[in-house]
Amino acid sequence: MTVTLDLEFFRRFVERATRAVTERAAYLTDLDAAIGDADHGANLKRGFGSAAQAGVTDGATAPGPLLTAVGVHLTNTVGGASGPLYGTVLRRMGKVLGDDAVVTPERLGEALAAAVASVRRLGDAAPGDKTMVDALQPAADAYAAALAAGGTAADALRAAAEAARAGAEATVPLQARRGRASYLGERSIGHKDPGAASSALLVTALHEAGD
Ligand code: ADP
Ligand code: MG
Ligand code: MG
Repeated sequence: MTVTLDLEFFRRFVERATRAVTERAAYLTDLDAAIGDADHGANLKRGFGSAAQAGVTDGATAPGPLLTAVGVHLTNTVGGASGPLYGTVLRRMGKVLGDDAVVTPERLGEALAAAVASVRRLGDAAPGDKTMVDALQPAADAYAAALAAGGTAADALRAAAEAARAGAEATVPLQARRGRASYLGERSIGHKDPGAASSALLVTALHEAGD
């Protein structure tokens, strides 16, 4: 299967991401109720939903500006830690993609790697800290590894989505070292990190945008 990483691909990504966080808002908020303040699903549903309602991507003529527009909106409208963090992911990806009308698979890999690096810097978080980084870093790494092994963009996107979901599952036994959940200390053990769970949904949306 050939995936063309054009404006329509990234519009499908934003639509699927919006649908995913909207449909799974209660699930994400339940995860956050266990180790945070029970607003993660509501935060993302409001952020992505109001971006769609405001038509922030309507004027975008290339993938980069489209992602930047959504990222700026999330940073400005989503309260809580996740708004600026996801805003940074999308703005950073948008910057790396620039004005290219069609993104090469390699460039998307660069954008993913740069976005993860930005989140790690902003949140001062590393893999194992029980945050969204535990889903995003493996996704970027798996994407790069699949391309390096000769895979297509579709192969790399599937590998990224699988790695993100596995990474989110793997946060369950971890003790949180960043964000609100870290206030719980050892009591954060045994629960999936809400941001890692939403990151798995977002990377899955990116994969499914190629279908
Ligand atoms: P808040 O904690 O402010 O209510 P959300 O509930 O929307 O914000 O998002 C919580 C998620 O944000 C966490 O599950 C975690 O994945 C992520 N997060 C929080 N702090 C950090 C950080 N410093 N670095 C990376 N991710 C973080
Ligand atoms: Mg919260
Ligand atoms: Mg909050």
